[in-house]
Amino acid sequence: MLKKSEIEQFKLLLLSAQARMRGDVEQLTAEALDRSSGGSDSRSPTHIAELGTLTYEQDFSLRVVENDQEVLDEIIDALNRVDKGTYGQCEMCVIEGKAPSKSWIPKTRLKAIPYARNCVQCEQKREELTR
Ligand SMILES: [Zn+2]
Repeated sequence: MLKKSEIEQFKLLLLSAQARMRGDVEQLTAEALDRSSGGSDSRSPTHIAELGTLTYEQDFSLRVVENDQEVLDEIIDALNRVDKGTYGQCEMCVIEGKAPSKSWIPKTRLKAIPYARNCVQCEQKREELTR
């Protein structure tokens, strides 16, 4: 069970991660879009292979942005759980009907992934199901 002061610490962790990710997402999106509009360098790709490389790189950085966006959504969700008072509880354990006092995500896991919504066992089960 998490103490109020511990939840506050995780909240700060989430907020700083959120701020950092938002900055990254904006920067990466700007870079990816800048590259597609040709950027400052107006030389048009004359070789088809070169064009392929450009598209690939652009796709790649946009994909990174997508993943970042997912993490950002998870962080926002975790902050909502802090407000609701359910932060640190494993969602799957609760759904399975375990007592809330037995559904806590270990602190070591939350320190590694502050937006984790499942305990390790449930996360493994979930990964097996989605595989
Ligand atoms: Zn669980």
